[in-house]
Amino acid sequence: MTFEYLKNNREIESLSEFDDHYSVSFLNDKKNGLKGFIAIHRKNPHFPSFGATRLWSYTTGTEALSDALRLSRMMSYKSALAGLKAGGAKGVIILPKDKQVDKKRLLQAYAKQVDLLKGNFITGTDVGLDQSDLSILKRVTPYIVGFNGHTTELTAQGIYYAIQVALKEVFGNDDIKGKTFAIQGVGKVGEALLSLLVPEAKKIFITDINKKTLREVVEKHRRVTIVIPERIHKQEVDVFCPCALSGAITSKNITELSCRIIVGGANNQLEDDTVGSLLHRLKILYAPDYIANAGGLIAVVNEYKNQKFDHRLVKERVYEIKKRLTEIFEISKKENRPTNLIANELAQKIFNNYH
Ligand code: NAD
Repeated sequence: MTFEYLKNNREIESLSEFDDHYSVSFLNDKKNGLKGFIAIHRKNPHFPSFGATRLWSYTTGTEALSDALRLSRMMSYKSALAGLKAGGAKGVIILPKDKQVDKKRLLQAYAKQVDLLKGNFITGTDVGLDQSDLSILKRVTPYIVGFNGHTTELTAQGIYYAIQVALKEVFGNDDIKGKTFAIQGVGKVGEALLSLLVPEAKKIFITDINKKTLREVVEKHRRVTIVIPERIHKQEVDVFCPCALSGAITSKNITELSCRIIVGGANNQLEDDTVGSLLHRLKILYAPDYIANAGGLIAVVNEYKNQKFDHRLVKERVYEIKKRLTEIFEISKKENRPTNLIANELAQKIFNNYH
């Protein structure tokens, strides 16, 4: 399979995900097998832009670039509504097809590219990278975060709060007790959320495409019911929790949903904004992903700003997700408009004022 790349900036600007990005770097270190992108969506002059790095397999270069642009844009929304000064950014490394490529050298080459941005871009781990990879990157460049030891836990805690707010909105109380859930993807975030829900939930369905992950999770939490990945969104539950990759809800599968609420950890859960309007029409309450899953970002920004990670302060900021989401649901009800559009507009007002 050949890798096609866009030939000039006009082609980049014509992508629907471009959204007037501040900068887009194409990473091309052939010697070390590195190909990828670093996209910075918005840049607050007084603060770096934040976004984790994803190592993933893509069929074309344009697909990888689109993913980077979409995710970095979403990070601007996430940061703005979490009350942070950081603009949004994203790093995407294209998983080399060549099995000979040494992962350590690939990551070192990537870290050199991060270093070239002189601290305007701060990054950590997203899908495909783990804590040991983070240490490799940190040895090359200081602009790496995610060592506070609480990022995943705080992401899951924020999602849990968002679930409580959504339950209150739909059922009049925020009790997890007696409620049913379907979790798509039980990796770092999905499993951490599962741990919080298990003690109280009535029933939890889970799935993952990785059988080993699934086995380990079931060993730990015996009260779960496994379903195949193709059926997870069809479960008749109170809350569907997408915690895998982007695009969990599409214009095609939306009619198969059998839940009252959607709250999860995955970024870009909706195929596009029109899916949010369809959910609104179907009376399925959607908690905008970037509000619910902001706990991890709040944690790493604190880690970057402070010599010492302030766990107590971060926990307080994560708790504020409740307030923000309540506000979004209230406006949505009052104006009878989809929650995703209201959240987008509020965030845009904030980050378009960076000067
Ligand atoms: P992870 O790689 O640890 O877990 C993702 C899991 O989803 C894996 O176990 C994978 O096998 C599974 N998966 C992939 N495609 C699937 C499918 N179609 N059906 C079922 N399972 C599938 O990643 P993570 O850190 O848990 O992140 C999960 C999502 O949450 C990502 O979208 C990520 O961008 C987002 N997120 C993570 C954090 C964080 O703190 N880690 C913070 C905010 C957002």
